[in-house]
Amino acid sequence: MSMASVTRTPSPAFARRHRFRWSSRVSKSGCSSRPRASAADLAPPADPCAFVLEAVARATTTDHFVISAERVLALAAQRGLDPQDLLPEFVREAQKLAIPPTSKFHVGAAALGASGAVYLGVNVELPGLPLNASIHAEQFAVVTAMRAGERALEAIATTAAPCGHCRQFMNELRGAASMRVIIPDPGDAATNARKRHLVLPLCDLLPHSFGPLDLTRDESLPLMLEERHNGLRFASGSIIPGGSGAATDGELDAAAAELALTEANAAYAPYSASPAGLALVDDVGAMHAGRSVESAAYNPTMSPLHAALVAAVGSAGMGDANGGEWGRIKSATLVEMSGAPVQYAGTVALILKTIAPRARLNVIACEKAEPGAS
Ligand SMILES: [Zn+2]
Repeated sequence: MSMASVTRTPSPAFARRHRFRWSSRVSKSGCSSRPRASAADLAPPADPCAFVLEAVARATTTDHFVISAERVLALAAQRGLDPQDLLPEFVREAQKLAIPPTSKFHVGAAALGASGAVYLGVNVELPGLPLNASIHAEQFAVVTAMRAGERALEAIATTAAPCGHCRQFMNELRGAASMRVIIPDPGDAATNARKRHLVLPLCDLLPHSFGPLDLTRDESLPLMLEERHNGLRFASGSIIPGGSGAATDGELDAAAAELALTEANAAYAPYSASPAGLALVDDVGAMHAGRSVESAAYNPTMSPLHAALVAAVGSAGMGDANGGEWGRIKSATLVEMSGAPVQYAGTVALILKTIAPRARLNVIACEKAEPGAS
């Protein structure tokens, strides 16, 4: 069956309704582990195109922008395709959920992990801020994979050829040079579903690249998606929120501080040695956390706030197409190392003041634990 025959898409109202349901029942501990589908869930409907729509709708409403490996394999088997060949179809549906209030240019991305799961991404523009505060769809997909614990990406499909910023950002991945990038063939006049795609290794799109080894000369360095623990604890003397204030806020602040520290410990900061983590709390008490993710070229680096915004879009549907809904953010708790070369507190305060002016910002210092300390 040709994908050109697809006419059914989840309406914005459908997406909003289901997102709201999700956001009202997520736990206060924040993001979940990778979603798993039940056998009943995986029974392919008669219409394979509907299965694609269902997979993306489920991923973007309840599954943190992740399509489970089981679901991907079921659909690939139904079609007799390689999972990689499904990525452009996922991209076409995911891009409808982009948040580009300035450009109105919807970008989608779908990355295939080594585990077989697929991670979706969209572009997110933040109204009232400079363009370079935007999140690109490829970055969104990579951060989504990171949050799910994926350790390597094999391929990524995008709406159009990745911009230079994203090519550089993805150059932090292990095996980046051979990672396959799937883009619409500009030489094919067909539109949408009938369009052919090119499959290129990233090194073709980023020749003579500058990457992690050029800066660190350290081959043992865990790269962007690889496991690490930065050995951080709350700094002695720092004020950790407790339950002694207004009961609910105090408890949430304490949980957010712990979550932000966990993120800081997993942060990818090999170039500045300034790992940081941040946890947002929204209007229903759900938490959305992110960590700093650096680039050897510095500028494509994602701040912990940007990574947390990805989580907020992915798990709570925050940020509608007009760039609203950020006002649902009630607080942000940032954990970073005082005295480190890179500090995020000032930038985070400025961004929050613009997109969520009523949000409280807590900044907590962390430090390297002494060797042998818990
Ligand atoms: Zn880009």
